[in-house]
Amino acid sequence: MRNWVNFAEIKSQVKLAAVLRSYGVDWLRRSGPPYQYRGRCPIHGGQGTEAFHAQLERGVFHCFACGAGGNVLDFVAAMEGCSVRAAALRLQGSASQDGRPAPVPARGSRGRELVTKKRGVSPPLSFALNVDGRHPYLARRGLDPLTVDYFGVGYYGARGLMQGRIAIPIHDDQGRLVAYSGRALDQDGPRYRFPAGFQKAQVLFNYHRAWATSKREVIVVEGFFDCMRVHQAGYPWVVALMGARLSATQRDLLTERFPSVVLLLDGDQTGRTATKRIAGDLAPACSVTQVLLPPEMQPDQMAAADIRQALTDEERRAEISAKRPI
Ligand SMILES: [Zn+2]
Repeated sequence: MRNWVNFAEIKSQVKLAAVLRSYGVDWLRRSGPPYQYRGRCPIHGGQGTEAFHAQLERGVFHCFACGAGGNVLDFVAAMEGCSVRAAALRLQGSASQDGRPAPVPARGSRGRELVTKKRGVSPPLSFALNVDGRHPYLARRGLDPLTVDYFGVGYYGARGLMQGRIAIPIHDDQGRLVAYSGRALDQDGPRYRFPAGFQKAQVLFNYHRAWATSKREVIVVEGFFDCMRVHQAGYPWVVALMGARLSATQRDLLTERFPSVVLLLDGDQTGRTATKRIAGDLAPACSVTQVLLPPEMQPDQMAAADIRQALTDEERRAEISAKRPI
């Protein structure tokens, strides 16, 4: 059965020592009792050479610097910037690839409780990555220190899925941290990395903060950096699709809370086509305004003044419908 996770079985089968080895952690030193090790924390990095403590027999760890701790699943989740469930799926996958028997789902109600109830919705993370918001890449992308702070983005240098990338925290509609996305600094590898199992169609980036502004209007952009730049231009009621598609869940999130939606997608053909389609999807439920940027323009490359102008310039705005009075 796909996506079945038996947490207890994985914890008993996968040894913390083996997982540490698979992440290249070979610098821990034995300290005192057998199976007791300590060393530099592989999760947050840092300078402390005694911060990270692992008890290999019990399969638990704790970092006294970044506060991360738990069992083998928590460790993988912290390294990968993913949920414990996604970490379990990963370990489950590697166990079967190694030729060892993959964990068999247990029968009975206790087993069933372990399955995430609401399919597709990412559970909150139990940790936060320690990132460096002063990395020059962020200034190069036009973000000022206040914006960087506000969104909690920064360079992540420690090992894991986000290693060497700008880690961008993503929250659900309740404001709970559910994942990180990792933006590459150069052309190597994919531009954005998401943890395995993360369903981006289930969330809108920055939704909880946009909602907290109590504005009845919301601005919708494509990407993280578009969102941060529009926020910085003086529009905190902005959300990002993390792409150019609007899922049914995202549509409901928007129309449940905002009577008016302003679409500010990229000016290229993809953005134009997406704007039309999304406006059509939203129009029955709320008032939609399209801001059509010139083909070479996208919000993350626009000066704050140009963003403000685009959002107020009547010629660029096309009202689709206003079915609900505001
Ligand atoms: Zn740590």
